[in-house]
Amino acid sequence: QQELLLQLADIPSQTEDGMTMNLAANISSIKELEQAIAKGTSGVGLFRTEFLYMNRTSFPEEEEQFVVYREVAERLNGKPLVIRTLDIGGDKHLDYLELPEEENPSLGYRAIRIMLDRTDLFKTQLRAILRASHYGNIKIMYPMISSLDELRRANDVLNEVKAELAEANVAFRADVPVGIMIELPAAVMISDLLAKEVDFFSIGTNDLVQYVLAVDRMNEQVAHLYDPFHPAVLRMLKITVDNAKRFGTHISVCGEMAGDVRALPIWIALGITELSMSVSSILHVKNSLIQSRQSEASTIWQELAACPSSTAVLQVLGRYWETGI
Ligand code: PEP
Ligand code: MG
Repeated sequence: QQELLLQLADIPSQTEDGMTMNLAANISSIKELEQAIAKGTSGVGLFRTEFLYMNRTSFPEEEEQFVVYREVAERLNGKPLVIRTLDIGGDKHLDYLELPEEENPSLGYRAIRIMLDRTDLFKTQLRAILRASHYGNIKIMYPMISSLDELRRANDVLNEVKAELAEANVAFRADVPVGIMIELPAAVMISDLLAKEVDFFSIGTNDLVQYVLAVDRMNEQVAHLYDPFHPAVLRMLKITVDNAKRFGTHISVCGEMAGDVRALPIWIALGITELSMSVSSILHVKNSLIQSRQSEASTIWQELAACPSSTAVLQVLGRYWETGI
């Protein structure tokens, strides 16, 4: 089956009736990048940079980061590369960065919250990304944004770095697109305000599901309650998409849900045209995509929106897959 799927790598990524859906990869290493390219990826929708910082004894220097970002961008040969700034804390920790013990790490000191305090680390990473932006189609993405203030503070740091690079005559793309992860319910609820100030949104369903349902994604005890098809999650997706469209902000999805074949009609129905997923999911999703019809998937949103439970949502989706394709 793996070989059959590989034959799909080079065919256009669209529904049977011609709607294009870009299928990008979530990667955290060059090795994964190579696998993604072999599968015909449309780009990298999420480069988890944490892994550059892990399994070592000190922070990577600007030059080391620059070399990696540049290499990934160049290998993508013009295809988009979304680099997420450091998302450490919560479930991801660094031996050499001492952080206080926390009762609720997921609700604690992590990601952009750390970077806005440790602007030394943030600036080093942004400098490396900006320098690499001269060599490919790079976009910058901030994780865990909960307010306009955080977004603006992050952009202030970015602008500072740009000014420094310009002053030193270092090449970078001045209008590098900047976007945010939509992974907190707060970000969903103010997505109209955020949409006006960014170039793109990427919905991070892994954390969004965790925070909407108050279910720790690492806790086995409550794993059965971790439910991407919960009606509350669907409503959050709808609000975000509506606000992105209202302001012409590009929107994609990069959580595990993007790679779940069952969810594909949801994205088509919502008018989402880009999904970023684990490399192993790309061809499975493509195989389903080419057998789907936008005209049919689009009609099920009303039904999905009216579902009182995830069981009902999954039934509607199940029926779609039995009869719709
Ligand atoms: C997410 O939260 O959905 C996401 C894509 O990021 P991560 O899994 O790295 O938190
Ligand atoms: Mg996340």
